[in-house]
Amino acid sequence: MNDSSIKKIKIIIPIFIMIFLSACSQPKTVSGLYFDTLISITTYDNTSQEALNECLQLCSDYELIFSKTNVNSELYAINTRASSLNISEAPDVYCAVLSPELYEVLNTAIEISLDTDQAFTPTLGQVINLWDYKSDSPNVPSNCDIDSALSHSDLSSLSLNPADRTITISDSELTLDLGAIAKGYVADQLKKYLAEHGTREAVIKLAGNIYCIGNKYGQQYSIGIQKPFSADPEPVTTLKVSNTSVVTSGIYERYFEADGVIYHHIIDPATGYPSRSDLTSVTVICDNSTMADALSTAILVMGKEKGIEYIDSQSNVSAVLIDENGNLHTCGSYFNQTASQQ
Ligand code: AMP
Ligand code: MG
Repeated sequence: MNDSSIKKIKIIIPIFIMIFLSACSQPKTVSGLYFDTLISITTYDNTSQEALNECLQLCSDYELIFSKTNVNSELYAINTRASSLNISEAPDVYCAVLSPELYEVLNTAIEISLDTDQAFTPTLGQVINLWDYKSDSPNVPSNCDIDSALSHSDLSSLSLNPADRTITISDSELTLDLGAIAKGYVADQLKKYLAEHGTREAVIKLAGNIYCIGNKYGQQYSIGIQKPFSADPEPVTTLKVSNTSVVTSGIYERYFEADGVIYHHIIDPATGYPSRSDLTSVTVICDNSTMADALSTAILVMGKEKGIEYIDSQSNVSAVLIDENGNLHTCGSYFNQTASQQ
């Protein structure tokens, strides 16, 4: 190759790079505080600003359905037994018609609860309310209070009727808590909305719930998994993904310490106490974010052995487990495919 050809190449390559970069859309981000969490949506294509703004409106609408603490939410009305339909003979039995969204999430929650031996339980509200992680001086609840709250956490007190979309609750003290599944559902709905509006490349983040739509400028997304209890921003491992949800539940996300013991926010429904499994973090990879959310919580409660067995029994669900010694364990089709590609 002579000098003049090399010069031409040196000129042509930067021109190509400039044309390529100008063809790429600039990333656009919207964010807001919903569900006590910073939610952000970033697009890497020509999604309209209106569609992004509508995503925040959807978050606000879903908060008015699923929030346990917002006094105007549908879940709050159910938990406070507002406006019963009074169709039951028994005075203590509560009945109400649900919105299609709350019905769908509760129905999925019951299915996953039964499938996970109730490691995930959407009726733990009474127990969860005893553990006040947000307080400046949190207390460990008494055994007696925990036992009493547990006695009002029975999944069988709850039933749904698809014919008229009603919920029936036979225990007047039962309280629903959808904190381990609702953000996953919202991620799925935002993904659906964006896909219907032509979005091909975007990432939706709701705290530990991430949905990757397509790729990022044609390359897979790199999703880092945080080291439990570490201030070090360096991830312990990074997953390369596209078109899927990646959801992490970790005991380091919310906890307090008393007498040298860590009391975290993921409750073992069998005891009413924070789970004492051998896992500190569970990341589930699955294109259904509702399922990924509920399962990351459930696997954390199940522990390593049962959790891996469960994931291996599912199709299209994979997971990264971090145990109490900081060791990583991977399972599911994502890792089998990645290994076979190497
Ligand atoms: P996540 O961060 O998705 O694991 O959800 C944790 C939140 O789910 C907690 O803050 C509680 O509101 C709720 N939760 C805790 N333990 C359970 C459990 N075993 N099953 C269902 N929900 C739970
Ligand atoms: Mg969860």
